[in-house]
Amino acid sequence: MQSFDVLVVGGGIAGLATAWHLTRSGTSNVCLIEREKILASHASGRNAAIFRQLDGGVGSVQLALRTRELLGELDDGDRLLRPTGALFVGGREMLEPLLNLARRFGVSGEPVDSRAVRSLVPALAGGPGGAGLFVPGDGVLDVHGLAMSLARRTREAGGTILTGTAVGRLLQGGDRVQGVRLDDGAELAAPGVVLAVGAWAGDLGATCGAPLPIEPYRRHLALLSRSEQAPAPVAWSLDPEVYFRPEAGGLLASPCDEDRWPPEDPPTSPDVLARLAERLSRAAPALATARVLRAWACVRSFASDRTCVAGPDPRVRGLTWIAGLGGRGMSCGLALGEVAAAAVQGLGHPLAEALRTSRLI
Ligand SMILES: Cc1cc2nc3c(=O)[nH]c(=O)nc-3n(C[C@H](O)[C@H](O)[C@H](O)COP(=O)(O)OP(=O)(O)OC[C@H]3O[C@@H](n4cnc5c(N)ncnc54)[C@H](O)[C@@H]3O)c2cc1C
Repeated sequence: MQSFDVLVVGGGIAGLATAWHLTRSGTSNVCLIEREKILASHASGRNAAIFRQLDGGVGSVQLALRTRELLGELDDGDRLLRPTGALFVGGREMLEPLLNLARRFGVSGEPVDSRAVRSLVPALAGGPGGAGLFVPGDGVLDVHGLAMSLARRTREAGGTILTGTAVGRLLQGGDRVQGVRLDDGAELAAPGVVLAVGAWAGDLGATCGAPLPIEPYRRHLALLSRSEQAPAPVAWSLDPEVYFRPEAGGLLASPCDEDRWPPEDPPTSPDVLARLAERLSRAAPALATARVLRAWACVRSFASDRTCVAGPDPRVRGLTWIAGLGGRGMSCGLALGEVAAAAVQGLGHPLAEALRTSRLI
């Protein structure tokens, strides 16, 4: 049986970031296993790619700031994050918490009046007319470039990446994890296994008696025919909640929908796309007539308390989780991978307590 020091199951941002941190900090005998033939095929390759720093979730701003630092450590980091800025619009009571977060964590954020809102994003003209908060350091990630960059670095540092390889179950001996059994019956041995399987986390943990309440929720994205004339920031209306940003060939938009879904790629719903049109007609009337050129949906997975999970499982020695990245995986994933890798290596991390697995058990 082939053996490794650590097996990382899942080739989305969570698994790739963890494998990168493990290999760059000296644990080179790492094998990442991904079921699909292509890495980042699910949530990590089908999201809106928005890098957003201000979010009220536990540890969220610190994770985003650390992710930005880590992007800067990648030599292609400049290309991977385009700092277009993000403009949040809404009532004072909605913008105030974001502004407080910006002040508390030293994130640059400029309150702007309704005239400046229209000048930054002309499509918002004729909307509710509220004030805004412009966050210049937010932006748009090259999510596929990021996945490829992490995979390349992991391989260069001695790690192995298997694609088109599905893990069927975890192998256990006493209270320790001992490796995995693949769907084709082959087994890989390792004293450490990291579960980074997104929406499938609950199911795979259960194969060694360690389920975790991670629940997937469907969200839609649509490419609209209308495009801004000039480069524009991400526009995020907080009421009605809807966001849009320039994307090659048009505008990428989401109605911020959320309905419970099984762990699989969901179909799109005409009702939700109608909701997108209705929300845009209120927030950005100029976009009300934009045609949907293409639409898709994917699942975002949350822990029951909506805080990400990164850390050891207290029930099974050697088992580490990185799960429940919700709607923050692209903004926080590099930093979460660092927390998970530290847990595998038995090292402490300032955010380990807030992200611990045991709170869900
Ligand atoms: C529509 C949408 C828009 C979003 N927009 C943003 C955004 O703008 N900004 C942001 O920060 N975040 C955004 N997110 C959230 C972000 O995409 C996720 O948080 C993140 O991608 C989750 O990464 P992951 O690695 O945990 O999961 P995934 O990317 O789903 O990766 C899990 C991987 O595990 C593999 N796997 C599962 N089971 C097995 C098995 N048994 N054996 C082997 N492999 C297995 C899967 O094939 C998959 O590749 C969005 C999400 C969605 C759905």
